[in-house]
Amino acid sequence: MNALETLQKWFGFASFRGQQAEIIDRVNNGGHALVIMPTGGGKSLCYQIPALMVEESTDRPAPLTLVLSPLIALMQDQVDALRRRGIDATFINSSLSREEREKRYAGIVEGRYRLLYVTPERFRKPEFVEGLARRDIRLLAVDEAHCISEWGHDFRPDYTRLREFREVVGNPTTIALTATATPDVQGDIIRQLGLTEDEVQRFHEGIDRPNLTIDVVDVWEEDEKLEQIIKTVRKHAQNPGSGIVYFTLIRTLDRFSNLLGKKRIPHVCYHGKLERRERRWIQDEFMSGKCPLVLATNAFGMGIDKEDIRFVMHAEVPGSMESWYQEIGRAGRDGLPSDCILLYEEADLTTQMEFLRWSNPDADLYQRIYDLLVHDKEQVDAFGLEWMREKLHARQRHDHRLETALSMLERFGAIEGTWGDPVELEVTGPLPSELQDAERLQAKLQRDQEKLLALVRFIQHDGDRKQFIHEYFGLPYHGMV
Ligand code: ADP
Ligand code: MG
Repeated sequence: MNALETLQKWFGFASFRGQQAEIIDRVNNGGHALVIMPTGGGKSLCYQIPALMVEESTDRPAPLTLVLSPLIALMQDQVDALRRRGIDATFINSSLSREEREKRYAGIVEGRYRLLYVTPERFRKPEFVEGLARRDIRLLAVDEAHCISEWGHDFRPDYTRLREFREVVGNPTTIALTATATPDVQGDIIRQLGLTEDEVQRFHEGIDRPNLTIDVVDVWEEDEKLEQIIKTVRKHAQNPGSGIVYFTLIRTLDRFSNLLGKKRIPHVCYHGKLERRERRWIQDEFMSGKCPLVLATNAFGMGIDKEDIRFVMHAEVPGSMESWYQEIGRAGRDGLPSDCILLYEEADLTTQMEFLRWSNPDADLYQRIYDLLVHDKEQVDAFGLEWMREKLHARQRHDHRLETALSMLERFGAIEGTWGDPVELEVTGPLPSELQDAERLQAKLQRDQEKLLALVRFIQHDGDRKQFIHEYFGLPYHGMV
């Protein structure tokens, strides 16, 4: 069965999109690939199709495609979707009971599964590595590959061990995928895989999409923002499809929700403070087209692959060129005209600068948090983050340093557990030297600030905006169509 037949048989889609067919060809011929495609572009099929095209044989187990993915929640969704199509896929992560996990380890050894999804942290477990060693790995897929970049907010230390993981599984053909990566990050990805530039073919379609109109509108006051939102909603009201208005702060989002409510403009709101179930419901409501307008923070987006998003508007300046670009990439996947509008009010920059400061803990704070976890475990477990914040004198608005520090400590293997409600944290290792390196932490803050500045330069850019974006991401540009 060739690639197209495999697509039709398992997924019921008529044809490949964009560069999918070329990428699959490359991988099937044993070539490594780096794929940069916007969210919703269809990256998964680039490794799922090759995974399904392996030779059947009666005397040995079918080769396995190993997918590294950073997020447990996404992994589950992806595997569920595959299983509904009758594809033998599974995942292994810490959300499973020990018993279930062991069953799946055994499944690997027995030759089950065509696709196996894990987080890179799974390689810390010897049982896993031993099980894998008994299988022929057809393909290694590294999803969300930008997580290797220590400059990104998604940084995952285990992604820097990719070279080692590739070796463990016999240096198979490798495909790395991400929605955004500057040329620096692309180079990093290739290096971390232990590959050279010549060995890896880059596939990068960019946003050379003539159906997207990109606009920056200067605004002075909230009234003007509201006016712009309403104007855009009205413009698209006649057409089927949806729109997203992004906000930085939940507080601002709520205020605008109120104002829009008064104007009787139906909408839903989505942000990280809502309960999981509520978020699900809103997402379904949006995906089904029942409510065509969503006001959202950047928590909205993962798993949003609606084809007919007619506009993506930013009512507050986002935190970086990268996140803005990623968010507008969701507009107009169906190829019909769509608007990407950024409302620029200078005062919003102050909010973002403050955000950056409050999301970059310094070495001293890491030390103090670690000490609390070691010496005051009982209080931490009993009174939670509020108590910790009190102790740390870190109670200002937007101060995310505690949460950031905990997630970094977890990523480096210094702690395990949860810090929602209730807090259950276990210290599992020493305080990592990387988090004690003041110079390095300072450099990280500076890089974050530079990414915001790049966005400001973009906003102030007079010429062709698409050209600016292409240059920033190191893309070839073919000009306005
Ligand atoms: P990404 O990982 O790039 O964000 P996904 O791989 O999750 O995107 O795909 C987004 C959506 O597009 C999915 O619902 C997928 O089924 C759909 N899709 C991908 N490729 C095709 C195709 N060739 N034809 C039709 N639908 C596709
Ligand atoms: Mg994806």
